[in-house]
Amino acid sequence: MYATVVIDIPDLKHQGFDYQIPEPYRSTIQVGSRVLVPLTNRLVQGYVVDIHETTEVGKIRPIHEVLDIIPSLSQEMIQLGKWMSEYYVSQLFRTYQILLPAALKTKMEEYIIIGNKELSDLTLIEIEIMDWIRPRQPVSIKKLLGSFPGNEKIIKELIQSGVLELQREFKDKTAKKKIPYLKSRLTLEQLLLEIAALPKQAIKQKMVLEYFISREIDEVSLSQLLSELKITRSTIQLLVKKGNFTIIEKEEYRDPYKDRVFQDKKITLTPMQDQVLRKIIDSMENQRTVPFLLHGITGSGKTEIYLSAIQHALEQGKDSILLVPEISLTPQMVERFKGRFGELVAVMHSRMSQGERYDEWRRIQKGNAKIVVGARSAIFAPFRNLGLIIIDEEHESSYKQEEHPKYHARDIAIWRAKYHHATLVLGSATPSMESYYQASKQNYQLLELPERVFGSQLPTVHIVDMREQLRMGNRSMFSQMLQEKIEEKLEKKEQIVLFLNRRGYSTFVMCRSCGYVMKCPHCDISLTYHHSDRSLRCHYCGYTEHQPKLCPECHSPYIRYFGTGTQKVEEELTKRFPGVRVIRMDVDTTSKKGAHERLLNVFKNEQADILLGTQMIAKGLDFPKVTLVGVISADSLLRLPDFRSAERTFQLLTQVSGRAGRHQLPGDVIIQTYDPEHYSIEHASHHDYNSFFRKELEQRNLLHYPPFTRMILIQFSHENLMLAMKAIERFARELKGMLKISAEVLGPVAAPIPKIKDRYRFQCVVKYNDEYFIVNKAIHRAIQVVNESIKDRKILIQVDVDPYMLL
Ligand code: ADP
Ligand code: ZN
Ligand code: ZN
Repeated sequence: MYATVVIDIPDLKHQGFDYQIPEPYRSTIQVGSRVLVPLTNRLVQGYVVDIHETTEVGKIRPIHEVLDIIPSLSQEMIQLGKWMSEYYVSQLFRTYQILLPAALKTKMEEYIIIGNKELSDLTLIEIEIMDWIRPRQPVSIKKLLGSFPGNEKIIKELIQSGVLELQREFKDKTAKKKIPYLKSRLTLEQLLLEIAALPKQAIKQKMVLEYFISREIDEVSLSQLLSELKITRSTIQLLVKKGNFTIIEKEEYRDPYKDRVFQDKKITLTPMQDQVLRKIIDSMENQRTVPFLLHGITGSGKTEIYLSAIQHALEQGKDSILLVPEISLTPQMVERFKGRFGELVAVMHSRMSQGERYDEWRRIQKGNAKIVVGARSAIFAPFRNLGLIIIDEEHESSYKQEEHPKYHARDIAIWRAKYHHATLVLGSATPSMESYYQASKQNYQLLELPERVFGSQLPTVHIVDMREQLRMGNRSMFSQMLQEKIEEKLEKKEQIVLFLNRRGYSTFVMCRSCGYVMKCPHCDISLTYHHSDRSLRCHYCGYTEHQPKLCPECHSPYIRYFGTGTQKVEEELTKRFPGVRVIRMDVDTTSKKGAHERLLNVFKNEQADILLGTQMIAKGLDFPKVTLVGVISADSLLRLPDFRSAERTFQLLTQVSGRAGRHQLPGDVIIQTYDPEHYSIEHASHHDYNSFFRKELEQRNLLHYPPFTRMILIQFSHENLMLAMKAIERFARELKGMLKISAEVLGPVAAPIPKIKDRYRFQCVVKYNDEYFIVNKAIHRAIQVVNESIKDRKILIQVDVDPYMLL
C-alpha cells in the first residue's frame, strides 16, 4: 500500500510524493492523516491526500510515523485545500496548514538522553559531555551543541554508537493542557493492608490512603488532593517512591469562559424579523444555496435572527458557523450565544491562546460543539454536517487574510455552503460594494431590515468643516462645536466616545487651508508620502513627484502630511478639560490579553468620561450613557491610497454614528472633516446607504475598479535588486503574452514599500472581468516559466486575489 503525501516544498505544482505504508500503520492511516516522512536526510511533516495499491515511483521510501489516529483533515478539507491552493495560487502544504489550528503545525524538538550502550574507552571530552548530560537529561540537542561548540562530530558519533540516544518530541503534545493526577496501583484490600503497615508517625501518608479508600477512587488530581488534605508534595513523593502510586498526566479541555454564568432572555421576534427568518428557514429546509444578503441597520435585530436560525439548524441536527469580526467578538456577543446554546457553542478568536483554540477545535471535531462563533479562521471549523453559515458585518476587511494563502472568508463560505448544501447569510448595516452589487444582479437574495427594533431614532449627525475652523483661527484638533458639546456632556455626566483613525497616519498630503489632497494624475488615488526622500508616490502605477512646498490649488503654505495619534489627542483632552477621565484604546493599550475587555468595563461602569480609540471602538459596543460621538478627522481614512477608501469611510462613519443614542437619551454625532461635501460623508450623515451605493458604483464603473473588474496583485521579492527586477519583468512579459485580450496587466512597478527586510519588492496588478479561470491558469504558468528560467529558490512570489491593500 502507498500513500501520496503533500509536504512543504517550494513548488506550486507539488501535489504530493508517494511513500510506502509500513505494515503496522496500514490499519490506522487514512486520507487526511498527518504523517512524518523522510525527505533526503531529514524527517518532515506531511498530509496524506491519497491511498492506493500501486505506485509508479521506482525508489520508494516508507512513511516514518503516522501522527493522527483520527485524521486531522476531512475529505471536505482535502478538497477545499486543493481548491484554495489553485484559486489563491499558493502552495498546497501551506494551505492545508491554515485549515488546521496552529497547535497542529508540529515542530519537532530533538532531545538527547544517555543511551543503553556503554563504552569503556571514552575520551576525556566524551566523558565531560556525558557528565554534563546526566543530571540534565532529557536535554535539547540545541542546548547541548551550544554548550559544546565545535564538538558536533563527536556528539554525532556518540549518538550513532548508541551511547547517547536521540528522542523526538512534537510541540503539539504540549499544546494539550495536561494536569497531574495521582494514580493508585492498589486494590481496596491492598490499600487497607498498606495503611496497617505504615509507621505511626506517617499520618499524612495515611490520610492519602484513606482518601482513596473512602472515595473508592483510583486516581485524583494532584491539586485537588493537596488542597483538600492540606498536605505537601513531599508526602506524595514518599508514596510514589514506594512504587504503589504514580503520577500521570491527564488532558484537560481549557474553557476560557469557564467561570462565567450566562443568561438568556426569551425574545419574540418582531413581524419584520420573523419575515426575514422565514425566508432563511425556507432556504435551509429546501437546501437552497443562493446566498442571502441581509441589509439591516445597526440595532435592527440581525443578531436575534441569527440566534433563531441557528436554533433551527440545531433542530434539523445540523451545525452552524457564525463569523464576526475579531473586534466585535466581545464577551457580550459570546454571552448571547452561550446563554442560548450553552456548551454547544465553541468560540474561536486570535486573542485566545493556541491551546484554547486547539481545544475548541477538537470539541468541534468530536461533535461536542455544534455551533462555532468566531473570527475569520473559524470558517474552517471541522463540522461534518453544516446547515448554516452566517457572516456578520460581511463588509469587514478583517475577513481577508493578509498572509499566504490570502483567502477571503466569504469565498470559503460560499464553497463550503455549496459542498454541504448549506444556507449562507451575509449580514451588514453597510454591505460591501461587491455583495450589494451581486444582490442587485440577483446573484444574492436581498433581505432588508430598515428600522431599529424599538423604533428609536438614529442620531443627528453634524458635519464640521475644519477649513472654516482654521480660517476662524482655531488651529486645534477640536472644532468649536466639538469642544462645546464635550463640555456640555461632561457637565451632564453623560459619556463620550471619540474616534480617531490612525491607519492613515502620516501618509497622505493635504492642504489645511483648502482641503486639497495630492492625487495621482493617472489613478485618482491619493499619493503616499515617503519620508526617506520626501517624495509622493502612487501605489498603483508608480507615478512619483516631489513634495510641494505650497498648495498647488490655493498656494497656502499649510500643506503637510497628515495624521494625529491617539496619544496626542489624549494629551490635548486632559489639557483642555482638567480632571477628565479618558480611556485610550488602541493597539498599544490593548495588546495584553484581557486588556480590551477590562478597559471597556471601566467605561461601562462609568468610571471614565471619554472613550478614545481607533477603529476597534467603532462597533459592537452598546453603552446607554453615551450621548456624544466625535470623529476627530474623517479624512485620514478617506485619503488612504485605496480605491475602497470612500466605501470604508462611509461604513465607518455609519458604524460610529450607530454608537450614539441607542437607548433613551438622544445622541449627537460630530464629524470633523476638511472635505464636507464628499459624498461618503454626506450620505453617511443622512444614514443613506442606497444613495451612497449608487454614487460609489458610478465612480467604480468610471475608473474600472471592482465590482466592475477584478484584480490580482502579484509581488516578487529578492535580496538582489537586479534579480528581482529581471524575474518580475520576465513574469510580466510572459503574462502579457498569454493574456492579450482577456486581461490588462499593469506594471511591473516597485512596490509601495520597495524594500522590506533587505528584500527588493516589485509588483504587477492584473485587471480582468470574468475569466478567472484563464487568468489563474496564466499566472500559474508564468510563475512556472520564471522558476524554470531563473533558477533561484530565494525569489519570493506572492499572489493576492481580490486584494484589499496594494501594499
Ligand atoms: P443588530 O445585530 O442588527 O445590531 P440586535 O439583534 O443586536 O441588532 O438587536 C438590538 C437590540 O435589540 C438588542 O439588545 C436585542 O436584544 C434587542 N432585540 C432584538 N430583537 C428584539 C425583539 N424582537 N424583541 C425585543 N428586543 C429585541
Ligand atoms: Zn490649498
Ligand atoms: Zn497612479
